[in-house]
Amino acid sequence: MDFDLSPKMRVILEMINEFVERELMPLEHEYLHRPWEEVEPKLAAKREMVKQMELWAPLHAKEHGGMGLDLVEYGLVCEALARTPTGVYVFGCQAPDAGNIEILMKYGTPEQKERYLEPLIAGRIRSCFSMTEVDQPGSNPVMMDTTAVKEGGDYVINGHKWYTSSADGSQFAIVMAVTNPEAKPHLRASMIIVPTDTPGFNLVRNIPVMGHSGGGWHSHAEILYQSCRVPQANLLGPEGHGFVIAQERLGPGRIHHCMRWIGICNRSLELMCQRALTRASAPGRKLADEQIIQAWIAESAAEMRAARLMVLNCAWLIENKGVKEARQDISLIKFYTAGVMQRVVDRALQVHGGLGMTDDTVLASFYRFERAARIYDGVDEVHKVSVAKRILKEFAAERGIQ
Ligand SMILES: Cc1cc2nc3c(=O)[nH]c(=O)nc-3n(C[C@H](O)[C@H](O)[C@H](O)COP(=O)(O)OP(=O)(O)OC[C@H]3O[C@@H](n4cnc5c(N)ncnc54)[C@H](O)[C@@H]3O)c2cc1C
Repeated sequence: MDFDLSPKMRVILEMINEFVERELMPLEHEYLHRPWEEVEPKLAAKREMVKQMELWAPLHAKEHGGMGLDLVEYGLVCEALARTPTGVYVFGCQAPDAGNIEILMKYGTPEQKERYLEPLIAGRIRSCFSMTEVDQPGSNPVMMDTTAVKEGGDYVINGHKWYTSSADGSQFAIVMAVTNPEAKPHLRASMIIVPTDTPGFNLVRNIPVMGHSGGGWHSHAEILYQSCRVPQANLLGPEGHGFVIAQERLGPGRIHHCMRWIGICNRSLELMCQRALTRASAPGRKLADEQIIQAWIAESAAEMRAARLMVLNCAWLIENKGVKEARQDISLIKFYTAGVMQRVVDRALQVHGGLGMTDDTVLASFYRFERAARIYDGVDEVHKVSVAKRILKEFAAERGIQ
């Protein structure tokens, strides 16, 4: 495996790094502290600049107006964009839209593609993904209460979801609901497109997460589906295949997240070094002279290097051997990289002392919002259990242990 940058990728990453520093980092404070409606027009103007530079939608196919990068290349782009919180949004590759685009691309009917996919890729609309429920364990989503019952030519959806990220201002949700209650557990649910202006789609509130309710793209909603009626033509993919499709979506999606987290580590380490080299610890000494700070920098660099190579290796595996072959690696990178990010951000914040706790640097927001990385897209524990079970099974088979 060779992860050396091609000349094309070198240029792309240089352009992105420059844009992130010049155009997006200055907007960080405003993005984190002003209402979404106030910041969104400024981000829209930056999006136009990105389109002019032909760097829009790096993951998506060229025929859809994207850059058509492969998964390893796109991972490198995510890493560069994540140094600032609005990077992925401004370049048209933000979650949950990126994942929904992939589903629509693969499973959408021509009508669904025209109505939902094209405007979504172009950045004219936003979307959300509504699976997790208030009263059932998201870690075991086959335990789902939400139902979609056929009536006439429609599905009638009832259920109580939350953590439907970015629902506020979205034009449609992809909703997971039980359509085949008698089937095997993982074949009971389907994905259904629900326009958010459908009667019965009730956005109850943006949930305060770590004290921040946010708004627009930067929010997580609680949603009550009450006799929410949509045509059966809004079914995405085969009926009962919701979990199968979700599994496909999550594999590459974890590369996007993990490389984004490495980008957050990069920014945190930069800030850590900057502060250590400029802050006195004693007369004539700087923080950078203290061995404990040096150890944090070295430990961060080592963990980041390990995580980065694991993620790139996994991206390569998905690209060349398929999601199934990479399943173990997908779990490994998910919990390992989330943990590395949490430790690196924590060390960077600690080096900043009281300043780290303020919002005068981006670190406190990384600390607040990125803690969730160990929870969404599969909690740490579930990934660890699945990795361990597989290792034990293979070991037992090799040694003939019953
Ligand atoms: C910021 C954020 C954004 C999100 N965005 C979305 C979204 O856009 N769409 C969506 O549908 N969902 C979203 N989610 C929801 C997320 O997917 C769930 O929170 C996650 O799957 C965990 O489910 P739960 O919260 O119900 O926790 P539970 O399933 O109740 O688990 C609670 C805890 O129990 C432990 N645990 C669970 N199972 C096991 C086990 N088998 N072994 C050992 N320990 C275990 C873990 O420590 C876990 O953290 C988001 C969550 C967050 C925090």
